Amino acid sequence: MKPLPHVLILGAGYAGLMAASRILRSREANVTVITTRSRFEQRIRLHEVLTGRPVQSPSIRDWLGHRHARLVTDRVLDIDVVGKSVTTRTARYAYDYLLFALGSEVDRSAVPGAAQHAVFIDGQADTSALSRRFRSLQDTGGNVVFVGAGLTNLESASELAERFPALRITLVSRGRLFDDFSDQGQRYLRFACRRLNIRLLEGREVQRVTETAVMLTDGSRLEADLTVVAAGFRASGLGRQLTRSAPDITLDPRGRIPCQPDLSVGPDKTVWIAGDACHLAADNQRPYRMGCVLALPMGAHAGENIVRTIRGRETRDFRFGFMFRCISLGRRDALIQWTGRDDTPLAKVTTGHRAVRIKEWVCRLTCLAPKWELKTGLRLYRWPQPRNADVHAEGGQYDAG
Ligand SMILES: Cc1cc2nc3c(=O)[nH]c(=O)nc-3n(C[C@H](O)[C@H](O)[C@H](O)COP(=O)(O)OP(=O)(O)OC[C@H]3O[C@@H](n4cnc5c(N)ncnc54)[C@H](O)[C@@H]3O)c2cc1C
Repeated sequence: MKPLPHVLILGAGYAGLMAASRILRSREANVTVITTRSRFEQRIRLHEVLTGRPVQSPSIRDWLGHRHARLVTDRVLDIDVVGKSVTTRTARYAYDYLLFALGSEVDRSAVPGAAQHAVFIDGQADTSALSRRFRSLQDTGGNVVFVGAGLTNLESASELAERFPALRITLVSRGRLFDDFSDQGQRYLRFACRRLNIRLLEGREVQRVTETAVMLTDGSRLEADLTVVAAGFRASGLGRQLTRSAPDITLDPRGRIPCQPDLSVGPDKTVWIAGDACHLAADNQRPYRMGCVLALPMGAHAGENIVRTIRGRETRDFRFGFMFRCISLGRRDALIQWTGRDDTPLAKVTTGHRAVRIKEWVCRLTCLAPKWELKTGLRLYRWPQPRNADVHAEGGQYDAG
């Protein structure tokens, strides 16, 4: 009997595990998942970890109980797309198909001095250790400065302000705050920050971070007992190695790899990509943003296309239609910004307890989707399509079993 092809999945985040579930259910490939962590990290709940809330990190091995699946806990060091192999700290793995789903991390070099003097919300263990520092700062009413006003910092600052009200929290933003929300959304976010006593400094550029302060380019100095920097995510640096077989591919400014609309990279459909590491233009020509909102469907779609390729079938283009963005503002408040399918904010927002319930439901779903699919072998997760999606793409349908 012909041996099954070997699919190597790098990364066991939202994208990697959704891809694994779609490939394993076909029973037409052996799948090896390589990841640094043997437990599933709910990255979208790291701001909860920041205040000491217990957040589950389930065992990936328990989810990957399939007879064609193997989990390797190791760090990927090198990818050889010409020789079709991956080198980790301890071994080398050959593959027939490769899925790159190594995600992203906070860009530590975005602000001078940050790498030495700031802290980053990255990884459950480190974030959990940080929570103890915030707790002790609360006793002295310490100053915490957040550099960058993206959603990670906003959610983290809100969570901290609600849990540790004696902290004096400042959020510094280079541009105008919340300008990709509707007027109603912007007003509510400002209201929530006022209520939580979060000072907003917008249109201010950070020059550098020192041990005790954040220096701005206008010469002012913000006292900081702790500085948190989340001034953007960068895709895994290993992405550069994927472009070796296709030198005409250039990474985008955030280190993401441009791919074909079906999520393949390069000419021969052996290398695939999904999640934060992937640069793919949506119908409106803007690249899909980083977020687990896209990592889950991209992972599932890449997995399905790998199965189609193994079967010698045509692959399908990835399509996605947005519906809303959800931002938690502590445990008792949240904002749901409803959007058009192209992610343009609509006037409609939902706030307060209803929004908290929606946000919590979304967070649960992001963990339950890969878990349930891997455990049951059923294709349970679907995602919305753009309004003009063709019938084949409807609801993430596919024909791989
Ligand atoms: C505090 C916070 C809140 C967020 N909230 C939201 C939200 O509300 N909505 C939203 O859509 N997004 C949110 N995000 C972003 C979201 O978490 C990411 O977009 C998502 O995790 C990307 O999924 P991924 O599968 O591409 O990568 P990841 O989840 O980052 O997974 C990458 C995987 O690769 C592994 N890995 C990395 N490097 C190596 C290596 N060298 N060797 C082996 N394994 C490696 C990791 O261990 C991990 O298993 C939030 C992020 C943060 C930090």
